[in-house]
Amino acid sequence: MKAKKNKKEHPHATWAEIEVAVDEQINQLRAQLLQDMVQMGESEQWKQKPEAERPRCATCGKPLVARGEQTRYLQTTGGEAVKLTRTYGTCPACGVGFFPAFMKS
Ligand SMILES: [Zn+2]
Repeated sequence: MKAKKNKKEHPHATWAEIEVAVDEQINQLRAQLLQDMVQMGESEQWKQKPEAERPRCATCGKPLVARGEQTRYLQTTGGEAVKLTRTYGTCPACGVGFFPAFMKS
Protein backbone atom coordinates (compact mmCIF):
# COMPACT_ATOMS: atom_id res chain seq x y z
CA MET A 1 0.00 0.00 0.00
CA LYS A 2 1.41 3.31 -1.07
CA ALA A 3 -0.36 5.99 0.80
CA LYS A 4 1.51 9.21 0.77
CA LYS A 5 -0.28 11.91 2.62
CA ASN A 6 1.04 15.24 3.68
CA LYS A 7 -0.99 15.26 6.81
CA LYS A 8 -0.05 13.06 9.68
CA GLU A 9 -3.08 10.96 10.47
CA HIS A 10 -2.06 9.13 13.59
CA PRO A 11 -0.61 6.06 11.95
CA HIS A 12 0.57 5.03 15.37
CA ALA A 13 -1.57 6.70 17.94
CA THR A 14 -0.33 6.25 21.42
CA TRP A 15 -2.43 4.65 24.10
CA ALA A 16 -2.97 8.02 25.71
CA GLU A 17 -4.11 9.55 22.43
CA ILE A 18 -6.57 6.75 21.90
CA GLU A 19 -7.89 7.18 25.41
CA VAL A 20 -8.41 10.89 24.84
CA ALA A 21 -10.27 10.19 21.62
CA VAL A 22 -12.47 7.63 23.31
CA ASP A 23 -13.15 9.96 26.22
CA GLU A 24 -14.27 12.67 23.84
CA GLN A 25 -16.71 10.35 22.18
CA ILE A 26 -18.04 9.09 25.47
CA ASN A 27 -18.56 12.63 26.68
CA GLN A 28 -20.45 13.53 23.54
CA LEU A 29 -22.51 10.40 23.82
CA ARG A 30 -23.26 11.10 27.45
CA ALA A 31 -24.38 14.62 26.60
CA GLN A 32 -26.57 13.30 23.82
CA LEU A 33 -28.15 10.69 26.04
CA LEU A 34 -28.78 13.18 28.81
CA GLN A 35 -30.38 15.56 26.38
CA ASP A 36 -32.57 12.84 24.92
CA MET A 37 -33.70 11.63 28.31
CA VAL A 38 -34.59 14.98 29.77
CA GLN A 39 -36.27 16.19 26.61
CA MET A 40 -38.39 13.06 26.70
CA GLY A 41 -39.79 14.09 30.07
CA GLU A 42 -40.66 17.45 28.64
CA SER A 43 -42.90 15.98 25.95
CA GLU A 44 -45.82 16.32 28.32
CA GLN A 45 -47.07 19.81 27.69
CA TRP A 46 -48.44 20.77 31.04
CA LYS A 47 -49.43 24.23 29.89
CA GLN A 48 -52.44 22.75 28.12
CA LYS A 49 -53.53 20.69 31.06
CA PRO A 50 -56.36 21.57 33.42
CA GLU A 51 -55.28 23.40 36.55
CA ALA A 52 -55.57 20.32 38.71
CA GLU A 53 -52.89 18.50 36.71
CA ARG A 54 -50.44 21.34 36.37
CA PRO A 55 -47.32 21.60 38.45
CA ARG A 56 -47.87 23.53 41.61
CA CYS A 57 -46.09 26.34 43.31
CA ALA A 58 -43.64 25.02 45.85
CA THR A 59 -44.52 27.86 48.20
CA CYS A 60 -48.29 28.20 48.17
CA GLY A 61 -49.49 25.19 46.16
CA LYS A 62 -51.34 27.14 43.48
CA PRO A 63 -51.25 25.73 39.93
CA LEU A 64 -48.53 27.38 37.87
CA VAL A 65 -49.19 29.43 34.76
CA ALA A 66 -47.08 28.58 31.72
CA ARG A 67 -44.91 31.48 30.57
CA GLY A 68 -43.48 30.12 27.37
CA GLU A 69 -40.30 28.20 26.89
CA GLN A 70 -36.82 28.93 28.02
CA THR A 71 -33.60 27.31 27.06
CA ARG A 72 -30.93 26.36 29.50
CA TYR A 73 -27.52 24.90 29.06
CA LEU A 74 -26.31 22.38 31.55
CA GLN A 75 -22.77 21.16 31.85
CA THR A 76 -22.15 17.44 32.02
CA THR A 77 -19.35 15.95 34.05
CA GLY A 78 -17.59 15.34 30.76
CA GLY A 79 -17.55 19.05 30.00
CA GLU A 80 -20.14 18.91 27.23
CA ALA A 81 -23.02 21.36 27.14
CA VAL A 82 -26.53 20.00 27.05
CA LYS A 83 -29.28 22.21 25.70
CA LEU A 84 -32.60 21.98 27.47
CA THR A 85 -35.81 23.65 26.45
CA ARG A 86 -38.33 23.78 29.21
CA THR A 87 -41.72 25.25 29.77
CA TYR A 88 -41.31 27.96 32.31
CA GLY A 89 -44.05 28.58 34.82
CA THR A 90 -44.87 31.29 37.28
CA CYS A 91 -47.12 31.26 40.29
CA PRO A 92 -50.08 33.63 39.86
CA ALA A 93 -50.21 34.20 43.60
CA CYS A 94 -46.61 34.84 44.59
CA GLY A 95 -45.08 35.50 41.19
CA VAL A 96 -42.24 33.06 41.66
CA GLY A 97 -40.93 31.40 38.51
CA PHE A 98 -40.23 27.69 38.19
CA PHE A 99 -38.93 25.12 35.81
CA PRO A 100 -41.31 22.42 37.05
CA ALA A 101 -39.26 19.56 35.67
CA PHE A 102 -36.30 20.61 37.80
CA MET A 103 -38.21 21.05 41.01
CA LYS A 104 -37.70 17.53 42.27
CA SER A 105 -34.08 17.75 43.29
ZN1 LIG B 1 -47.11 30.57 44.90
